[in-house]
Amino acid sequence: MQSNASYTSTNRWRRIPLWQKILAGLVLGVLAGALLGEDASVFKPIGDIFINAIKMLIVPLVFSTLVVGITAMRDPQKMGRIGARTIALYLVTTAFAIAIGLLASWVFQPGVGLEMSFESGVEAKQAPSLVEILVGLVPQNPIDALASGNILQIIVFAIGLGISLTLIGDKGEPVVRVFESFAEAMVKLTNLVMALAPFGVFGLIAHVAGSYGLEVLLPLAKVIGVAYLASVLHVLLVYSGLLALLGRLNPVRYLQGILDALVVAYSSASSSGTLPVSLRCAKDNLGVSEGVAGFVLPVGATINMDGTAIYQGVVAVFIAQLLGVDLSLMDYGMIIVTGTLASIGTAGVPGAGLVMLSIVMAQIGLPLEAIAVIAGIDRILDMARTSVNVAGDLMVTTLVGKSEGELDEAIYNAPGKS
Ligand code: ASP
Repeated sequence: MQSNASYTSTNRWRRIPLWQKILAGLVLGVLAGALLGEDASVFKPIGDIFINAIKMLIVPLVFSTLVVGITAMRDPQKMGRIGARTIALYLVTTAFAIAIGLLASWVFQPGVGLEMSFESGVEAKQAPSLVEILVGLVPQNPIDALASGNILQIIVFAIGLGISLTLIGDKGEPVVRVFESFAEAMVKLTNLVMALAPFGVFGLIAHVAGSYGLEVLLPLAKVIGVAYLASVLHVLLVYSGLLALLGRLNPVRYLQGILDALVVAYSSASSSGTLPVSLRCAKDNLGVSEGVAGFVLPVGATINMDGTAIYQGVVAVFIAQLLGVDLSLMDYGMIIVTGTLASIGTAGVPGAGLVMLSIVMAQIGLPLEAIAVIAGIDRILDMARTSVNVAGDLMVTTLVGKSEGELDEAIYNAPGKS
């Protein structure tokens, strides 16, 4: 039997909201990293276990949620509308993001007066063509898509399956019920895995904080500061503004509702990895329906990267300043267009944005080797851009949900979340 004292402390632990526990994990992780330095990496396996556990959920959760969502919607026209709105909002917010990044670097000039040397050895990536992207959307083998975790192909197959199940009516019922029960189990499993989040976040952050000494961070403190500032401004101005203006929704409730996902995104630097947590936030905290969240979020985790776009803008201008290169108005326009495309092609995994930066750099004729200057601190920037990537997906999900009458405002406006 459990003793009374341990029963009371378990109960007390349960009553603390999850986001507070995760935030405590983050703060303690920073402290542990600062105190122990490189030795803090002993905690990394705890973080890795947590990340593996949420990654384990991505494919089954996305697939089953989307099939259930599509069969519940029963209206192909509505689905088309949701798709069009989603893509339009994702593109518009990304263009804003990159413009804010450019503006921040232009105003604060993080690269002026800095002397840094770099070595060569970076090769430019090619942006995929539109035709390649479209052809790649359709899986030859859905099992292969599921096994390799190709989210866009999984979405295409899930939509096809969902529509077919609806079209065959009663005959589809048994399969729909299997998917409903499976999706429910996956949601439950997400909740169980999330109980590990405070410990996982602690392990991940302790490792990161322990491996970056001040001598690496200080020379680049200004560009880090500018990237973080632009990220915060984008969330507070653009996201809050769009929610208030287009959705007539209180942005504070949105920010409260996405905290879990933000902290997991920040510590894992992977928006695809954060997907199960984002889905949970969208449904449980923001009140978005399963159908909308199950479609808009996975698409966002693969193509919507506002944080990465901000970063491309800030870093491209930073490097131009560092090298004393004057950028023309045409160059700025080029950065907006290629940066938006490059961010769409960025995978939601750690470090992907750094590789895609080469596209923007090549486009405006900056030497790719200069990327090495920020490669050493990329993780610190990656954590911020991933958080914005995830925040953007959740904002668009909320707006699309609202516009389609698929947002439960009682849940959205409820005070204490998760
Ligand atoms: N790590 C980012 C993400 O997962 C992508 C990037 O590197 O910009 O969203």
